[in-house]
Amino acid sequence: MIKIRQDFDGGNIEVVEIDGDRVTLRQELRDNSSWWFYWAFAAEGLPKEPVTFRFDNGETVSPFGPAVSLDGVRWRWLGAESAPDRKTFTYANTRGHGRVYFSFCLNYRPVNFGFFLQKYGLQGSLFRLAVSEKGADIPLLEIGNPDAERHILLAARHHACESPGSSVLEGFLEYVLAGTGALSRGYRFHAIPFADYDGVIAGDQGKLRAPHDHYCDYGNGSIYASVRAVKALAEKYKGAIVAALDFHAPNRWGGENDEPFLVKAENDADGAALFSRILCEECSAGYEVGAIPFSGRRDVEYMTEWNTWGDSSFSGYMHEVAGAPLSVTLETPYFGAPDTFTMTEDGLRGLGRRCAAAVERYLIQRAFFFEQVGQRVSIKRKPPD
Ligand SMILES: [Zn+2]
Repeated sequence: MIKIRQDFDGGNIEVVEIDGDRVTLRQELRDNSSWWFYWAFAAEGLPKEPVTFRFDNGETVSPFGPAVSLDGVRWRWLGAESAPDRKTFTYANTRGHGRVYFSFCLNYRPVNFGFFLQKYGLQGSLFRLAVSEKGADIPLLEIGNPDAERHILLAARHHACESPGSSVLEGFLEYVLAGTGALSRGYRFHAIPFADYDGVIAGDQGKLRAPHDHYCDYGNGSIYASVRAVKALAEKYKGAIVAALDFHAPNRWGGENDEPFLVKAENDADGAALFSRILCEECSAGYEVGAIPFSGRRDVEYMTEWNTWGDSSFSGYMHEVAGAPLSVTLETPYFGAPDTFTMTEDGLRGLGRRCAAAVERYLIQRAFFFEQVGQRVSIKRKPPD
């Protein structure tokens, strides 16, 4: 007897029908203002013979098939051959596993972040950013030099379902924790791993949440506790924030969604455009098998296409209100593409490390500018309490 469950962090599924070896499913849109594609579920009681899972609300199965996991922590692609079209996949439980997890993407849940903290002994660096609408403690990680006068803000999951951003953030933090470069010595890092924490736990889409999502809540009268707390943090270090990076994932697949790109909060040639060129160089140097390419050719200029949220978005707010010279969103694909690269968790973390290396070079290159900023605001801050 097949049983479909979604009672775990990140779970999202509606069972339409189970008819023998055919299961019809649908992603839950919940309070979304329009269609989106995220889903994750666990199946129990699967037979050894193939079972066909079919989604009846749009194309939500990747060209690599679904992501599959036995523990809900480590994921791999089931494979292109498992998915005859973008609505269907087939799975045969030949080894008789009691429970198998399936998801739209390589899923990154709070438990993954817990393992990351454990691996690097960071429990003492974890603080409460705020209490969420559902009463949960929203995590804030603070690392780097506690006496540094310059600050860098890092965020992920302003859109709850965008798991790739979390693995990229992990890679970025790994680079800082390695402690070999100027980045670790000269800066204090404030990382918000789950900006929409309730949404991540609940398995919400998060993107296009009504009346607006967390990313677009940075204007006057912010409605989410986490956003109000991030704004307070930015206010506390105003003038001393040299960079703010927000890690996202784009739309499902196809075209610009198949390679990473930056969404800029300004069009200054010395700002995000310079960072984009450096990141491109970092991603080209020592290119290894499985590395995620970055060319910069898909970058979205400020106030063009859909990048028109201004200072009511995280990136716009950090640049225009908090005064961060560099403020960008990095959009990292869920999948890659069959003819370019296949997304892996290692690849995502590698991109995060390269992104950190690019920030380091960018800051060194613009040292004179920051010297001026430092003189103007003359900040001597204590470590945060
Ligand atoms: Zn996003």
